[in-house]
Amino acid sequence: MTTANQQFASDNYSGVCPEAWEAMARANQGHDRAYGDDQWTARAADHFRALFDTDCEVFFAFNGTAANSLALSSLCQSYHSVICADIAHVETDECGAPEFFSNGSKLLLGRSEQGKLTPAAIREIALKRKDIHYPKPRVVSLTQATEVGTVYQPEELRAVSDTCKELGLHLHMDGARFANACAHLGLAPAELSWKTGVDVLCFGGTKNGMAVGEAILFFNRDLAIDFEYRCKQAGQLASKMRFLSAPWVGLLENGAWLKYADHANRCARLLAELIGELPGVELMFPVQANGVFVSLPPAALEALKHRGWLFYTFIGVGGARFMCSWDTSEARVRQLADDIRTVVIGAI
Ligand SMILES: *Cc1c(COP(=O)(O)O)cnc(C)c1O
Repeated sequence: MTTANQQFASDNYSGVCPEAWEAMARANQGHDRAYGDDQWTARAADHFRALFDTDCEVFFAFNGTAANSLALSSLCQSYHSVICADIAHVETDECGAPEFFSNGSKLLLGRSEQGKLTPAAIREIALKRKDIHYPKPRVVSLTQATEVGTVYQPEELRAVSDTCKELGLHLHMDGARFANACAHLGLAPAELSWKTGVDVLCFGGTKNGMAVGEAILFFNRDLAIDFEYRCKQAGQLASKMRFLSAPWVGLLENGAWLKYADHANRCARLLAELIGELPGVELMFPVQANGVFVSLPPAALEALKHRGWLFYTFIGVGGARFMCSWDTSEARVRQLADDIRTVVIGAI
């Protein structure tokens, strides 16, 4: 496998991990039932129930935008609102899909601190108005790991969840990088989800090493009523569902999901260590998951692009974002760090 073309713009620049690929090949044996009635879909759902140690409802969608939007729409009436961080993916990167699929539920934005929504921000929004003219707060949406590579600690999750209970709000978790959060904290998935009051989790597969696919886990099963119809109506019911579900079996059956998340996190930490002390380089957030956000002189950013590096500068709060993925090579991290060193020294 070539690593020479590896980039750090996004963790979805990577390809498919061998476990997911091999499970797709295993699923590709002759015929099986369609629309999720196949053995692979049943097995994948059972793997999730075992991994989370609870009898949750499991659904599979093609991508995170659909998973988040459909999950939120199942928690909300159109006149409800969703409290989320100002930099939440559901707000900034889903093209209004949560509002669209919920027929108008409004997102209300709380100021984030290191990417995280706080109980104080939630309380302020939820208690601001009680009258009929305000969209009634119904859900809090958290992103774990956050858009800026930080991770909610269990006690932070518990504090948010206690606030939700007190205020009568459901709790949704955008877990596009949930695996990275588990790897960082070294805690079981249950500890970071239903045991801390999460009602619905969207568990990301794509960034974890699959070609395509997210799982939607309803720990509060009452909220999953008719969810299959939402998926179908939204164009998210795969007819050859086994190819969306089998890769999950590959990722979950022997712990590859956690191994790869841990690898990506380690690569991010390595990059942070290699560049963190350089003059002109400022790490913008603690590096806890698989992303490194750095503030660099504009001339250095330009020089880095000239050297062929691709990276985003529009995520979260600006700066350059470097994401590591399941297959990031350490050598490539070192090359990037070397180039960053060269360009910042040239720029100051
Ligand atoms: C990548 C990502 C998603 C999913 O995005 P899609 O492109 O729709 O698959 C959701 N939330 C966060 C925080 C993400 O980073």
